[in-house]
Amino acid sequence: MDIPQKSECVKVVVRCRPLSDKEKQKGYERVVDMNTKRGTIEIRNPKLPPSDPKKTFTFDTVYDWNSKQKDLYEETFRDLVDNVLQGFNGTIFAYGQTGTGKTHTMQGIKNDPEQRGVIPNSFEHIFSHIQNSENQQYLIRASYLEIYQEEIRDLLSKDQSRRLELKERPDTGVYVKDLSSFVTKSVREIEHVMNVGNQNRSVGATDMNEHSSRSHAIFIITIECSEMGADEENHIRVGRLNLVDLAGSERQAKTKSEGERLKEATKINLSLSALGNVISALVDGKSTHIPYRDSKLTRLLQDSLGGNAKTVMVANIGPADYNFDETMSTLRYANRAKNI
Ligand code: ADP
Ligand code: MG
Repeated sequence: MDIPQKSECVKVVVRCRPLSDKEKQKGYERVVDMNTKRGTIEIRNPKLPPSDPKKTFTFDTVYDWNSKQKDLYEETFRDLVDNVLQGFNGTIFAYGQTGTGKTHTMQGIKNDPEQRGVIPNSFEHIFSHIQNSENQQYLIRASYLEIYQEEIRDLLSKDQSRRLELKERPDTGVYVKDLSSFVTKSVREIEHVMNVGNQNRSVGATDMNEHSSRSHAIFIITIECSEMGADEENHIRVGRLNLVDLAGSERQAKTKSEGERLKEATKINLSLSALGNVISALVDGKSTHIPYRDSKLTRLLQDSLGGNAKTVMVANIGPADYNFDETMSTLRYANRAKNI
């Protein structure tokens, strides 16, 4: 088995959502230009005169406002999920400012097959693969958790007030103690698990948008495959797929950042910057120390980042002028995470 080259381990793509009707009504302008063939993004600073040179970024792949969910799946995610079906780990992150399309990319629009995000598309992919395999037996398990202020909550547990701990074992690595997991035998069953978790996520949140912008949601699919080898022994492979809708990357407004809010903001920024550091250390390839231990998020995903695991980060941006600063900050973050 070849170990994937660095360049294959981490892939960064950028996706820009369309201007919303509200933004159009308010007269906001698009300052982002994309060349999907070349993978380039040009961005104009609305505070400078139009004649000023634009900033240009280049990525593995860029998706503009016309991009289709299905195309993202086929071009960017399918390989990673195939890899998990082969027994490797894989992680997909949606990064970006609140309102730029992270949840749209991960979940999509319910009951609209055209608008299904990567999570439901991966369900279809996994179960159709299983149906078409003759000599393997598969066991699919799903877990769903949330990290809020560096605390882990099991989104599938009856007791939503309980906080879970991270533990480590030499044989199995880092794991969440007592995290529930459900065996699912069909797309419908795993969709049901996802819906229950989504419902629990909003329970207790007075403002769902506020809450989701401050917490990381991680849907975990464990794929166990058992196959009779030529040696007439059963061989078991286990792959894990982590589907992560990250907290909003926006800087918290300074006036609001007092007391509890400040504590929260520091923690959100801590895990996002810890993730950035881990990914750039992996991409760099020369670092001897990968700082997984700096946040719950990176510790939890330690065995799924680096090594044989594949990672795709989708950096979501908005096209409008008033988002310029946040968009620049997302593009810089994404730029750091990609290969040079
Ligand atoms: P986030 O999760 O990053 O806060 P959302 O996924 O909730 O953002 O997206 C914000 C709004 O923009 C939603 O109404 C969503 O339907 C819409 N949206 C996001 N991305 C797209 C896209 N690529 N095409 C069409 N609408 C989109
Ligand atoms: Mg969201």
